[in-house]
Amino acid sequence: MVNDSHCHFFSPAFFQALAQQRAPDLHVQDLYRELQWDDPGSPEALADRWVREMDANGVHRAALIASVPGDESSVGAAVARHPTRLVGFFMVNPAAGDAPQRTRLGLTALGLTGVCLFPAMHQVPLDDARTRRVVEEAAACPGAVVFVHCGLLSIGVRGRLGLPSAFDLALGDPLAVSRLARDFPETPFIVPHFGAGRFADLLAAIDASANVCLDTSSSNNWIRAVPGLELSDVFRKAISAGGASRLLFGTDSSFFPRGWQRGIYEQQTSTLQELDITPEEQSLILHGNFERLFPAPRSG
Ligand SMILES: [Zn+2]
Repeated sequence: MVNDSHCHFFSPAFFQALAQQRAPDLHVQDLYRELQWDDPGSPEALADRWVREMDANGVHRAALIASVPGDESSVGAAVARHPTRLVGFFMVNPAAGDAPQRTRLGLTALGLTGVCLFPAMHQVPLDDARTRRVVEEAAACPGAVVFVHCGLLSIGVRGRLGLPSAFDLALGDPLAVSRLARDFPETPFIVPHFGAGRFADLLAAIDASANVCLDTSSSNNWIRAVPGLELSDVFRKAISAGGASRLLFGTDSSFFPRGWQRGIYEQQTSTLQELDITPEEQSLILHGNFERLFPAPRSG
């Protein structure tokens, strides 16, 4: 069985925001044409497409990220439609005045589970009071998790559209995640892509804080910049730092028609075969940890 802890929900509102950033009069249909990506239709239609895609690939459950601030309601609609299959995460910009209120609303009324911080993108440090307000709201919601992007950040669609990506990469710091995790010990923190180049600091954070987890998502191209490092080493070191219960499998799938990135799954499952871990540890990474952090609502 497999659960995917990291997919993006590229909703109509997400593309509207990109079109707006590109040119105020750009029609979103022209954006789809330029990207050669499918029009997602409505949030409900996109949710149905995701579930069909998951069915076609044997994916039991997936976390979908609303990938532009203010888009909580799109992924909320998706989760409401498929509550046993989809878990909702949403991006919040702590610099926005209503970020704490949006966080609370997302994690309560809208039925979402994870609030996503991108400190490098939003240029708000993790130790800033504005970030802390968002994390406090999440910590007050039982079952909520805080996702924090650290390390290298490149957003493919922004690059393809020529949109500026003036990120402050120093702000995506796993050690600062560790400090938040220490202050909010009941709240799970998830750092994607094995820390995206900040691997040593993430290992230190995992070692220091029992509530810091990581996701394995994406092609993890950051590994190429480290001479001699292989994906199998990365898995091995992460498991030895905190145990298999801290790793969540993910792909970083996003747009259609590409859909679910089976290639990432195949690469990672074949890497897991190389490791000296038990079948139980392997199944924790592929689905068990997801079920523990995001228990499915009882249906019926
Ligand atoms: Zn992602």
